[in-house]
This record gives sequence, structure tokens and C-alpha cells, in this order.
Amino acid sequence: CGIVGYIGFREAYPIVIKGLKRLEYRGYDSAGIMLCDGKDLKIAKTKGKVSDLEDKSKDIASSKATIGMGHTRWATHGVPNDINSHPHVSNSGNIVIIHNGIIENYEPLKKELLKRGYTFKSDTDTEVLVNLIEDVKKKENIKLGKAVQIALNQVVGAYAICVFDKENPDEIIVARLGSPIAIGVGEEEFFIASDASPFIEYTSNAIYLEDEEMAIVRLHKPLKIRKIKDDSLVDPYIQELQM
Ligand code: GLU
Repeated sequence: CGIVGYIGFREAYPIVIKGLKRLEYRGYDSAGIMLCDGKDLKIAKTKGKVSDLEDKSKDIASSKATIGMGHTRWATHGVPNDINSHPHVSNSGNIVIIHNGIIENYEPLKKELLKRGYTFKSDTDTEVLVNLIEDVKKKENIKLGKAVQIALNQVVGAYAICVFDKENPDEIIVARLGSPIAIGVGEEEFFIASDASPFIEYTSNAIYLEDEEMAIVRLHKPLKIRKIKDDSLVDPYIQELQM
């Protein structure tokens, strides 16, 4: 299973697809992609291989979108099918998530959200998390990063996640507990991936998030890393990759 993200000035589609192929060795049963051109979201996802995703996403392949996220899924909750594939979108249609790992306490969280009127299309634990984030964001009237942090503090499990909000399309929130995630730091662009292989040709500067850390990856802004539990700031440690 794998994660690829891009935010910058290049066309995101080829970077994400090529990156997902580099992560294929990790094993997976489904693949998906989200693109955003600053306004509209485009999502394609399918059971099967990244090559099947390419077939299914032909209509968006020429998109000029410069923000993208891609996912390969190793199903834990819900059978491998198109609907359970990632990305998953919140009820408002604004917040998009890709997730590797398991939300162990998704059942009580889902029950609570159902009571609050949320509906679910998939059988995944991941769709519960994206709606929990949305619920927190609305209730508290806060920014996405803060909402992700509060939601993650209610979660038991393991994750590497990327979260994107159409209402604030110049940032991707990244977080990790138990599943690896690296951020490639370029000039006016950022890459996100399960390991550095999807971005090594673009930048040799990588930050590996530690467990219980989250990053706010925002265009034209320095990268901010925080501890999910106590909100303390962490100095980003940039590693030089051998090209
Ligand atoms: N638990 C999630 C799901 O079943 C993510 C699985 C993964 O790591 O790819 O959809």
C-alpha cells in the first residue's frame, strides 16, 4: 500500500501515477487519484492495478491540476472494490483523504457520526475518519490542520494520511502513526510519499515524519511540523538523499 502527493507548479497527474508505480512493490489491491486545479476536484479510483487506474482516469490525465494525491490500497475494512478504494470524500464534498493503516475504533466513531446525520458510501474505516475531520472542523469552526489534529487524538490505530480541503486548496495535511511517510522539499513545490522513490528525481531533500507527527504542507510557506498529541512544534530535519 502506498501514498503519493504533490503540490507545486508541475502537472500533478503524471507525477502521482509514476509515483504509485514506484510504490507497487509494497503490494495493493486497488488504486486511486485526486486532482485539484484550485477549484474543482477530480477523482478516479478502481479495484486493480495502477494500469487499471490509468485506463479509468484517461479523461483527467491531461488535467493541468498542480495538486494531486494518489493511493494504493491494501484492504483491511471493506472488500477490495471501486467504492472502497481511496480517496474518500467527506459528506460536504470538500475534504478528501487517502490513508494507509487501520482506524481500530472506527465503529463507535461511525455510530456517533451516523447519529449526527452523516452518511457513508463505503465500508471503510477511512471514510469514518474523513467525516470525523469534517465534523470537528465544522463544530469548532477551525482550520483543517487543527481539525485533523483533534480528530487524530480521538483515533486508536495506525495511519499515514494525506488530507486535502477544496476550500483551502494550497495545502495538504500529512500525518503519521505507525506507517511511513516522507516529504520531498523542492523549490516552490512539495512531494509526499510512503518512501522517497516517487520524488527522488525532483529533489534530494527529504523529511521523514516520525510517529505522532503531522505536517502542514503549504505552498509558498515553510513546512510546519507538530506533535499530534501536545501540539509542540518540531524542527524539520531535512535529510540529503543520495541521487
Ligand atoms: N484501512 C483502510 C482501508 O481498508 C486503508 C488500508 C490501506 O492501508 O491501504 O481502506
